[in-house]
Amino acid sequence: MKKHVEDMYSVLGGKVEREALEKELNLFVGQYKVSIPSAKRSIVKKFGGDPDALSIGVEKSIGEISAGEGSVDVSGRVVFATPREITASGEKKRILSGLIEDSTGSMSFTIWDYASDDVSRGDLIAFRNAYTTSYREKPQLNVSSKSRFWVREKASDWKREAKKIKDIQPNESNVLFEGKIISVAARTINSKGEEKEIHYGLVGDETKTVRFTAWKDFGLDKGSVVRVEGAYSRERNGELQLNFSEKSVVEKLVDREIGSVARFGVPRVCKVSELREGMGNLTVTGRIVSVSRKEIEVQGQTKSMFSGVLADETGKVSFTGWRDFEFKEGDTIRITGGYVRSWKGVPQLKFDDKSEVTLAEKEIKVTAGSSSIYAIDALEERGGAMDASVTATIIEVRQGTGLIFRCPQCKRTLKLGECRTHGPVDGIADFRVRLVVDDGTGSLFANLNRELSETITGYTLESVRKRTEQTLSQETVVAEISSKVLFRTMRLTGNVFSDDFGLNLFASTAEFVVPEVKQRAVVLFQEAIQTLGM
Ligand SMILES: [Zn+2]
Repeated sequence: MKKHVEDMYSVLGGKVEREALEKELNLFVGQYKVSIPSAKRSIVKKFGGDPDALSIGVEKSIGEISAGEGSVDVSGRVVFATPREITASGEKKRILSGLIEDSTGSMSFTIWDYASDDVSRGDLIAFRNAYTTSYREKPQLNVSSKSRFWVREKASDWKREAKKIKDIQPNESNVLFEGKIISVAARTINSKGEEKEIHYGLVGDETKTVRFTAWKDFGLDKGSVVRVEGAYSRERNGELQLNFSEKSVVEKLVDREIGSVARFGVPRVCKVSELREGMGNLTVTGRIVSVSRKEIEVQGQTKSMFSGVLADETGKVSFTGWRDFEFKEGDTIRITGGYVRSWKGVPQLKFDDKSEVTLAEKEIKVTAGSSSIYAIDALEERGGAMDASVTATIIEVRQGTGLIFRCPQCKRTLKLGECRTHGPVDGIADFRVRLVVDDGTGSLFANLNRELSETITGYTLESVRKRTEQTLSQETVVAEISSKVLFRTMRLTGNVFSDDFGLNLFASTAEFVVPEVKQRAVVLFQEAIQTLGM
């Protein structure tokens, strides 16, 4: 009731006491059973005021108005307004078009007969009996000779309020907002046969982060907070995008800070095997296989970093997080607002202050040692994986197999007795096998440490050393190992990384297996024998 009393009070210019108006309103609504809007009109009329000047209960807010409405009562602040002369049916006419906004949205308007000079930027204007048409799927307000409009409040020190990015709707024009430039890059495009440099990236505030395109060089740089007036919004693939046109005004705000910018991207739930480089705003649920805490000095402050391995039914992923975290090995946790960065091609899950980590309601059972089975093309597409298992045929025993010497300090392989970093050193003898394996979908390099190399070749470090000394070359050893292992099928498990040459698997287990084809053949043969009654 209070807002209605206030509405009448302001229309009557304070000539009638609030108490009197409240009494009247109670009488009309309570006793005479009149609706509030009608009651207000009657009361205002009774005291000599203009009932059309009432706003609450009569007007719609801008956000409620749709295209094609016949009689619209609305009010809004004038964001901008430009008078123009037009010729309609041979007659010169002055019109005013511009944009109004309230807390629910903005709308373009045209006053089709604008003789006065009353309306200026920042004024609060009331419109009665206007109608709406549609432009770019947005309603537009038309003020005809049958409509009325007046300035309800002159702009004295009106300052347009910047919108929160989450409140910006698609196809809005002349948007004012403030945001932080998260990233920006330049690109040359061909626009109407002309080369044009555009700047694009991500801009965000506390409520939302979106893509932007600047159609002019505004000197935007990463990390700065800007106030943009005259931006327009579009929707692409269900995503809001902001455009800064050549007419937009971009001002750098030196003393405004946006500390915590909302994460970009539509939140999505992901399984570990679906994680890919560059993904953001993810929800991942998994069991902590291992976790450790490290204290790191960042700009004179000690920060805790947590890292470890997380697993679900589809795979394992290493994670790192810069935030306090009280979970331990075996807990099933849900990370909301995580993101992916790759290291050597292997997706890693990250989380920070903007992410949320909670104990999941449902526990995920993953056996500690279990690895995920991959086809090699899936590893290629993914860029690598932690603790992956592949079954593939050995198609090559690579150079570098056999006796090698390692630097005692950094463990790197020596070349002609020299370490890349530590120069000439007394090397430590080691035995390794390097293979190329293929599973029919793709191939990868497999690297076997001494223990696995000894198991699958039957050589020991000592026997390899002797053989190499006898023949004075590695090639004999490579040939002998080849004759033993070539074209055999092997199950390999380990972490897979990628570099410019392809995928590298560092084996933690390696064993020969009877290939499935052979097993299938045996089964089919036994079935055939049974069917024939042999
Ligand atoms: Zn070294």
